[in-house]
Amino acid sequence: MKNKYDNTLIWFKIITIFPEMFNAITNYGITSRAIKKRIINIDFLNPRNFTKNKYKSIDDRPYGGGPGMIMSAEPLYQSIQHAKSELKNATVIYLSPQGKLLKQNCIEQLIKKKQIIFICGRYEGIDQRIIDSQVNEEWSIGNYILTGGELAAMIMIDSISRFIPGVIKKKQSIENESFSKNLLDHPHYTRPKKIHNMSVPEVLLSGNHSEIRLWRLKQSLGKTWTKRPDLLKKHILNKEEIILLNKFKKYKNKKVI
Ligand code: SAM
Repeated sequence: MKNKYDNTLIWFKIITIFPEMFNAITNYGITSRAIKKRIINIDFLNPRNFTKNKYKSIDDRPYGGGPGMIMSAEPLYQSIQHAKSELKNATVIYLSPQGKLLKQNCIEQLIKKKQIIFICGRYEGIDQRIIDSQVNEEWSIGNYILTGGELAAMIMIDSISRFIPGVIKKKQSIENESFSKNLLDHPHYTRPKKIHNMSVPEVLLSGNHSEIRLWRLKQSLGKTWTKRPDLLKKHILNKEEIILLNKFKKYKNKKVI
Protein backbone atom coordinates (compact mmCIF):
# COMPACT_ATOMS: atom_id res chain seq x y z
CA MET A 1 0.00 0.00 0.00
CA LYS A 2 1.23 3.51 -0.87
CA ASN A 3 2.53 5.33 2.17
CA LYS A 4 1.50 9.01 2.52
CA TYR A 5 5.21 9.96 2.57
CA ASP A 6 6.12 8.01 -0.60
CA ASN A 7 6.40 11.26 -2.58
CA THR A 8 8.61 12.96 -0.01
CA LEU A 9 11.91 13.91 -1.62
CA ILE A 10 13.69 15.61 1.26
CA TRP A 11 13.40 15.34 5.02
CA PHE A 12 14.44 18.09 7.42
CA LYS A 13 14.65 17.70 11.18
CA ILE A 14 15.34 20.85 13.10
CA ILE A 15 16.79 20.98 16.57
CA THR A 16 15.68 24.28 18.03
CA ILE A 17 14.37 25.81 21.23
CA PHE A 18 12.07 28.04 19.10
CA PRO A 19 10.14 25.75 16.72
CA GLU A 20 7.34 28.34 16.38
CA MET A 21 9.71 30.62 14.47
CA PHE A 22 9.47 28.17 11.58
CA ASN A 23 5.80 29.06 11.03
CA ALA A 24 7.24 31.56 8.57
CA ILE A 25 8.11 28.75 6.16
CA THR A 26 5.70 26.02 7.25
CA ASN A 27 2.59 28.25 6.99
CA TYR A 28 3.36 30.52 4.05
CA GLY A 29 4.17 30.40 0.37
CA ILE A 30 5.86 27.79 -1.74
CA THR A 31 7.47 25.88 1.15
CA SER A 32 4.11 25.54 2.88
CA ARG A 33 2.56 24.14 -0.32
CA ALA A 34 5.47 21.71 -0.71
CA ILE A 35 4.87 20.48 2.85
CA LYS A 36 1.14 20.05 2.20
CA LYS A 37 1.94 18.06 -0.93
CA ARG A 38 4.44 16.09 1.18
CA ILE A 39 7.26 16.83 -1.25
CA ILE A 40 9.24 18.07 1.73
CA ASN A 41 8.85 17.06 5.34
CA ILE A 42 9.87 19.30 8.25
CA ASP A 43 9.67 18.44 11.92
CA PHE A 44 11.22 19.62 15.11
CA LEU A 45 13.00 18.49 18.24
CA ASN A 46 13.25 20.84 21.19
CA PRO A 47 16.34 20.21 23.33
CA ARG A 48 14.33 21.39 26.37
CA ASN A 49 12.39 18.14 26.12
CA PHE A 50 15.65 16.26 26.68
CA THR A 51 16.66 18.06 29.88
CA LYS A 52 16.58 16.40 33.28
CA ASN A 53 16.71 19.54 35.40
CA LYS A 54 13.64 21.07 37.05
CA TYR A 55 13.81 24.33 35.05
CA LYS A 56 14.40 22.61 31.68
CA SER A 57 17.41 24.87 31.17
CA ILE A 58 19.51 24.08 28.12
CA ASP A 59 22.38 26.53 28.70
CA ASP A 60 25.19 27.01 31.17
CA ARG A 61 28.14 29.30 31.91
CA PRO A 62 31.30 28.87 29.84
CA TYR A 63 34.27 27.06 31.37
CA GLY A 64 37.15 29.50 31.64
CA GLY A 65 34.75 32.40 32.24
CA GLY A 66 33.66 35.12 29.84
CA PRO A 67 30.38 36.68 28.76
CA GLY A 68 27.22 34.86 27.70
CA MET A 69 25.95 31.34 28.02
CA ILE A 70 26.62 28.16 26.04
CA MET A 71 24.08 25.54 24.92
CA SER A 72 24.80 22.43 26.99
CA ALA A 73 25.98 19.27 25.27
CA GLU A 74 23.62 16.67 26.75
CA PRO A 75 20.19 17.95 25.60
CA LEU A 76 21.65 18.53 22.13
CA TYR A 77 23.28 15.10 22.11
CA GLN A 78 19.98 13.42 23.02
CA SER A 79 18.07 15.47 20.43
CA ILE A 80 20.55 14.46 17.72
CA GLN A 81 20.39 10.76 18.65
CA HIS A 82 16.60 10.93 18.52
CA ALA A 83 16.68 12.66 15.13
CA LYS A 84 19.20 10.15 13.76
CA SER A 85 17.07 7.22 14.93
CA GLU A 86 14.34 8.53 12.58
CA LEU A 87 16.55 9.76 9.73
CA LYS A 88 19.18 7.07 9.44
CA ASN A 89 21.08 8.59 6.50
CA ALA A 90 20.95 12.18 7.64
CA THR A 91 23.71 14.77 7.35
CA VAL A 92 23.97 16.78 10.58
CA ILE A 93 24.43 20.48 9.87
CA TYR A 94 25.27 23.08 12.49
CA LEU A 95 24.31 26.60 11.46
CA SER A 96 27.28 28.71 12.41
CA PRO A 97 28.97 31.97 11.39
CA GLN A 98 32.17 29.89 11.33
CA GLY A 99 30.79 27.51 8.68
CA LYS A 100 31.14 27.33 4.93
CA LEU A 101 29.53 30.32 3.24
CA LEU A 102 26.22 29.45 1.58
CA LYS A 103 26.10 30.26 -2.14
CA GLN A 104 23.68 29.31 -4.90
CA ASN A 105 25.95 26.60 -6.35
CA CYS A 106 26.21 24.96 -2.87
CA ILE A 107 22.42 24.68 -2.70
CA GLU A 108 22.36 22.56 -5.83
CA GLN A 109 24.68 20.14 -4.00
CA LEU A 110 22.80 20.22 -0.69
CA ILE A 111 19.57 19.08 -2.32
CA LYS A 112 21.22 15.72 -3.08
CA LYS A 113 21.39 14.96 0.65
CA LYS A 114 17.69 13.93 1.02
CA GLN A 115 17.86 13.91 4.87
CA ILE A 116 19.21 16.85 6.85
CA ILE A 117 19.28 17.49 10.59
CA PHE A 118 19.81 21.18 11.39
CA ILE A 119 21.12 22.29 14.76
CA CYS A 120 20.16 25.88 15.61
CA GLY A 121 22.51 27.43 18.12
CA ARG A 122 21.59 30.23 20.54
CA TYR A 123 23.50 32.35 23.08
CA GLU A 124 27.27 32.19 22.47
CA GLY A 125 26.87 28.93 20.58
CA ILE A 126 26.97 25.23 21.43
CA ASP A 127 29.41 23.05 23.38
CA GLN A 128 32.35 22.28 21.09
CA ARG A 129 32.14 18.55 21.88
CA ILE A 130 28.86 18.36 19.97
CA ILE A 131 30.51 19.95 16.93
CA ASP A 132 33.48 17.59 17.19
CA SER A 133 31.52 14.39 17.63
CA GLN A 134 28.10 14.87 15.98
CA VAL A 135 28.26 17.53 13.29
CA ASN A 136 29.06 16.59 9.68
CA GLU A 137 29.03 20.08 8.20
CA GLU A 138 28.91 23.68 9.40
CA TRP A 139 27.19 26.28 7.22
CA SER A 140 27.06 30.07 7.49
CA ILE A 141 24.54 32.26 5.66
CA GLY A 142 26.85 35.29 5.67
CA ASN A 143 29.66 37.14 7.37
CA TYR A 144 27.56 38.59 10.17
CA ILE A 145 26.29 37.31 13.52
CA LEU A 146 22.66 36.38 14.11
CA THR A 147 21.13 35.80 17.54
CA GLY A 148 20.31 32.20 16.63
CA GLY A 149 20.49 29.58 13.91
CA GLU A 150 16.74 29.50 13.21
CA LEU A 151 16.71 32.22 10.55
CA ALA A 152 19.75 30.62 8.93
CA ALA A 153 18.03 27.20 8.88
CA MET A 154 14.91 28.74 7.32
CA ILE A 155 16.99 30.43 4.65
CA MET A 156 18.71 27.15 3.84
CA ILE A 157 15.44 25.17 3.75
CA ASP A 158 13.73 27.81 1.62
CA SER A 159 16.53 27.97 -0.91
CA ILE A 160 17.07 24.18 -1.02
CA SER A 161 13.33 23.56 -1.44
CA ARG A 162 13.16 25.65 -4.61
CA PHE A 163 15.43 23.12 -6.32
CA ILE A 164 13.32 20.10 -5.45
CA PRO A 165 11.40 18.81 -8.48
CA GLY A 166 7.72 19.73 -8.17
CA VAL A 167 8.20 22.57 -5.69
CA ILE A 168 8.54 25.27 -8.36
CA LYS A 169 6.45 24.60 -11.41
CA LYS A 170 8.67 25.94 -14.19
CA LYS A 171 12.23 24.58 -14.18
CA GLN A 172 13.12 27.42 -16.56
CA SER A 173 12.35 30.04 -13.91
CA ILE A 174 15.10 28.54 -11.72
CA GLU A 175 17.56 28.26 -14.59
CA ASN A 176 17.24 31.97 -15.51
CA GLU A 177 17.56 33.27 -12.01
CA SER A 178 20.32 35.48 -10.65
CA PHE A 179 23.52 33.55 -9.88
CA SER A 180 22.75 30.62 -12.15
CA LYS A 181 25.54 30.75 -14.74
CA ASN A 182 27.06 33.65 -12.76
CA LEU A 183 24.67 36.14 -14.35
CA LEU A 184 22.01 38.29 -12.72
CA ASP A 185 18.42 37.88 -13.86
CA HIS A 186 17.03 40.21 -16.57
CA PRO A 187 14.37 42.87 -15.69
CA HIS A 188 10.73 41.78 -15.51
CA TYR A 189 7.54 43.66 -16.41
CA THR A 190 3.84 42.89 -16.08
CA ARG A 191 0.56 44.60 -16.94
CA PRO A 192 -0.35 47.43 -17.50
CA LYS A 193 1.71 48.49 -20.54
CA LYS A 194 1.98 52.04 -19.22
CA ILE A 195 2.04 53.29 -15.66
CA HIS A 196 2.94 56.80 -14.39
CA ASN A 197 4.30 57.58 -17.84
CA MET A 198 6.63 54.58 -17.80
CA SER A 199 6.34 52.04 -20.61
CA VAL A 200 7.29 48.42 -21.07
CA PRO A 201 10.21 47.93 -23.54
CA GLU A 202 8.63 47.48 -27.00
CA VAL A 203 10.50 44.25 -27.73
CA LEU A 204 8.66 42.44 -24.91
CA LEU A 205 5.33 43.26 -26.56
CA SER A 206 6.50 42.20 -30.03
CA GLY A 207 5.87 38.46 -29.68
CA ASN A 208 9.23 37.89 -31.41
CA HIS A 209 10.73 35.21 -29.18
CA SER A 210 14.22 35.27 -30.60
CA GLU A 211 14.42 39.08 -30.21
CA ILE A 212 13.06 38.79 -26.68
CA ARG A 213 15.68 36.17 -25.79
CA LEU A 214 18.48 38.42 -27.11
CA TRP A 215 17.14 41.48 -25.27
CA ARG A 216 16.88 39.55 -22.01
CA LEU A 217 20.35 38.11 -22.36
CA LYS A 218 21.76 41.58 -23.11
CA GLN A 219 20.04 43.00 -20.01
CA SER A 220 21.24 40.12 -17.91
CA LEU A 221 24.85 40.63 -19.05
CA GLY A 222 24.57 44.40 -18.68
CA LYS A 223 23.10 44.22 -15.17
CA THR A 224 25.82 41.84 -14.04
CA TRP A 225 28.52 44.05 -15.60
CA THR A 226 27.06 47.10 -13.83
CA LYS A 227 26.15 45.65 -10.43
CA ARG A 228 28.28 42.54 -9.96
CA PRO A 229 31.46 42.69 -12.08
CA ASP A 230 32.92 40.07 -9.73
CA LEU A 231 30.31 37.56 -10.96
CA LEU A 232 30.83 38.43 -14.61
CA LYS A 233 34.54 37.61 -14.27
CA LYS A 234 33.55 34.03 -13.42
CA HIS A 235 31.26 33.72 -16.45
CA ILE A 236 32.89 32.61 -19.70
CA LEU A 237 31.32 34.80 -22.39
CA ASN A 238 30.48 33.18 -25.73
CA LYS A 239 30.60 35.12 -29.04
CA GLU A 240 26.95 36.12 -28.89
CA GLU A 241 27.31 37.36 -25.32
CA ILE A 242 30.41 39.44 -26.16
CA ILE A 243 28.49 41.21 -28.92
CA LEU A 244 25.46 41.80 -26.69
CA LEU A 245 27.51 43.09 -23.78
CA ASN A 246 29.41 45.45 -26.08
CA LYS A 247 26.08 46.76 -27.38
CA PHE A 248 24.90 47.28 -23.81
CA LYS A 249 28.06 49.15 -22.87
CA LYS A 250 27.94 51.29 -26.02
CA TYR A 251 24.40 52.45 -25.46
CA LYS A 252 24.42 52.60 -21.68
CA ASN A 253 25.27 56.30 -21.52
CA LYS A 254 22.63 57.12 -24.13
CA LYS A 255 20.11 55.11 -22.03
CA VAL A 256 18.97 53.30 -25.22
CA ILE A 257 19.42 49.82 -23.91
N1 SAM B 1 29.89 33.12 19.49
C1 SAM B 1 29.60 32.68 18.15
C2 SAM B 1 30.72 33.08 17.22
O1 SAM B 1 31.23 34.20 17.35
O2 SAM B 1 31.07 32.30 16.31
C3 SAM B 1 28.28 33.29 17.67
C4 SAM B 1 27.07 32.76 18.35
S1 SAM B 1 25.58 33.41 17.69
C5 SAM B 1 25.28 34.80 18.72
C6 SAM B 1 24.35 32.26 18.16
C7 SAM B 1 23.97 31.24 17.11
O3 SAM B 1 23.44 31.86 15.97
C8 SAM B 1 25.08 30.37 16.59
O4 SAM B 1 25.33 29.29 17.47
C9 SAM B 1 24.56 29.92 15.25
O5 SAM B 1 23.75 28.78 15.35
C10 SAM B 1 23.70 31.09 14.83
N2 SAM B 1 24.34 31.98 13.83
C11 SAM B 1 24.81 33.23 14.06
N3 SAM B 1 25.29 33.78 12.94
C12 SAM B 1 25.14 32.88 11.96
C13 SAM B 1 25.44 32.87 10.57
N4 SAM B 1 26.02 33.90 9.99
N5 SAM B 1 25.13 31.77 9.86
C14 SAM B 1 24.55 30.71 10.45
N6 SAM B 1 24.23 30.66 11.76
C15 SAM B 1 24.51 31.72 12.52
